[in-house]
Amino acid sequence: MVSALPTFDDVVAASQRLAGVAHRTPVLTSRTADARSGASLFFKCENYQRMGAFKFRGGYNAIAKLSDAQRRAGVVTFSSGNHAQAIALAAQILGVKAVIIMPLDAPAAKRAATEGYGGEVVTYDRYKEDREAVARRIQEERGMTLIPPYDHADVVAGQGTAARELFEEVGELDYLFVCLGGGGLLSGSALAARALSPNCKVIGVEPEAGNDGQQSFRSGSIVRIETPKTLADGAATTHLGEITFALIKAHVDDIVTVSDAQLVGMLRFFAERMKMVVEPTGCLGAAAAMSGEFPLAGKRVGIIISGGNVDLKSYGGLLAGA
Ligand SMILES: *Cc1c(COP(=O)(O)O)cnc(C)c1O
Repeated sequence: MVSALPTFDDVVAASQRLAGVAHRTPVLTSRTADARSGASLFFKCENYQRMGAFKFRGGYNAIAKLSDAQRRAGVVTFSSGNHAQAIALAAQILGVKAVIIMPLDAPAAKRAATEGYGGEVVTYDRYKEDREAVARRIQEERGMTLIPPYDHADVVAGQGTAARELFEEVGELDYLFVCLGGGGLLSGSALAARALSPNCKVIGVEPEAGNDGQQSFRSGSIVRIETPKTLADGAATTHLGEITFALIKAHVDDIVTVSDAQLVGMLRFFAERMKMVVEPTGCLGAAAAMSGEFPLAGKRVGIIISGGNVDLKSYGGLLAGA
């Protein structure tokens, strides 16, 4: 059994903590996207969030809730992606020390970005060591608080604030499409949807190569897979969390998948038609909404664009079709 699942009240409390710290990101529309889908689409643009992804919301909310003693000891996390930068930046703003566990062979740009926000990077050999074990060792040695990337009530509540802002701004929706990795964003978004737009269908979207969430949703228990090979690196998780799965089971309507080719098509659409940079993982929700597989004619549809952090070289290659 999972104890203490976050509720919509926790999302509201997180919004208060984030006020004036996180960006209230814009909600964009596109006539071309509407014409192609037959729906009214509302894109919540977390690619414009601080550090380039919604992860800042959950990371900041979790650190802001720590006691003074916990803050003095600092925080630790394992991630080479957006959660690393989120924790580093949130900790810096709150004057808390942050240790980020990264693989020895993490891309230099990601390491530099994390260090740029004042995070201390501790490396490990991902062929020989388990990152969670390394994090736990540092947690014990230094008395730090571990903040995992998704399976944490305060992280989930923070992530839910993006969808809350979307509903506040545009009102009730018929559908909400949310990308799915470990499920922090989807479960937080579902809490907001259930409270603010009870009839809205909440759809989680995973990369085709890694549909552990879909398998878990259908089978009723958490399914674990090998690390999937997909362009959607932010959703290349191997399993849902206990907290996120419990919320997804209770509040999400379905989980679907899209292919890498669909992600590239969407990424180009965002660049060409909407003039914005979206990372492949950030394209998951939109790619499902534009797939033609949902009866969206005349519907009001929300889409969370989760992030915009790209490696320019690979992004250029995807745009050019290389
Ligand atoms: C982390 C991340 C996701 C997946 O979020 P979960 O909470 O793990 O499901 C999606 N998109 C981007 C850009 C991310 O950084």
